[in-house]
Amino acid sequence: MTAKKIDGRAIAKDIREAVKADVAAMVAEGYNPPGLATVLVGEDPASQVYVRMKHKACEEAGIKSFQHKLPATSTQEEVEILVKELNADPEVHGILVQLPLPDGMDDEQVLNAISIEKDVDGFHPLNIGRLAQKGREPRFVPCTPNGCIHLLKTSGIELEGANAVVLGRSNIVGMPVALLLVEENATVTICHSRTRDLEAKCREADVLIAAVGRPEMVRGDWIKPGAAVIDVGVNRVDDETAKRGYRLVGDVAYEEAQQVAGHLTPVPGGVGPMTIAMLLRNTVRSAKVAYSE
Ligand code: NDP
Repeated sequence: MTAKKIDGRAIAKDIREAVKADVAAMVAEGYNPPGLATVLVGEDPASQVYVRMKHKACEEAGIKSFQHKLPATSTQEEVEILVKELNADPEVHGILVQLPLPDGMDDEQVLNAISIEKDVDGFHPLNIGRLAQKGREPRFVPCTPNGCIHLLKTSGIELEGANAVVLGRSNIVGMPVALLLVEENATVTICHSRTRDLEAKCREADVLIAAVGRPEMVRGDWIKPGAAVIDVGVNRVDDETAKRGYRLVGDVAYEEAQQVAGHLTPVPGGVGPMTIAMLLRNTVRSAKVAYSE
């Protein structure tokens, strides 16, 4: 069997085009374009790249973006003051604080400071809390986990009653994606670094989501034949033949998995593009709600 590639770039492109059309319609009706503010604290190179990509995507969609850079020496209070100013700014419909924050800063306290109406990343404890409660709707669903579910649904994967295994239990990927799968009526197993016999757990999965940050940890023989595999991991491995001296690989050994899985996302070009597409969609939703109030 050769797995069907789930093309995150193409699926994300469709979402971005729909977002662009939505923004154009809003502007044609006389509203200001939606606005996204990013807050980057410190000089982390990967974070700088992510923030740049988000601004470029906003520009292409017609969303206004506001970039705020603070030095790594900033205090917690300074970051929170900026977030509160953005909460009060009517041109800003979404606020994204790029994680991780520098050592010593309390992520939770900063995320708590974001107004729930502008929490387009979906990480505010209230949004996550609602996600964990049956019958409650979060205002925003976290972008990467929502992107994973969208990829599965768009590929026609049956989630109801499926055995879903999530590798990883982080606040930003593993746990929210597991909660979303429960909402889709899958039977969910969450694995982590203390899980016993991880391989056997994986082999039971009709749907396997890998979000551990370990290059190519999931081997082909861990995968149930025909399973849908979503690889969230983005890992740099040294590669002298590559221009930059490294290449990106996922948490899944792609070539091996391709021989066994039914559906599989590549890295890059799988989950990554979905994260940005979902962020744009959340920002437009936020603006629509703000304009309808
Ligand atoms: P974290 O480091 O926060 O969490 C990793 C999780 O994996 C933890 O729950 C950890 O368990 C578990 N884990 C680590 N090693 C093992 C192991 N050997 N066996 C079983 N479980 C293990 O990572 P994130 O959730 O933030 O990110 C995961 C990956 O996804 C990274 O590669 C990251 O770059 C990528 N990512 C990609 C995004 C995208 O848009 N494509 C967005 C966000 C992340 P424990 O809890 O016990 O420590």
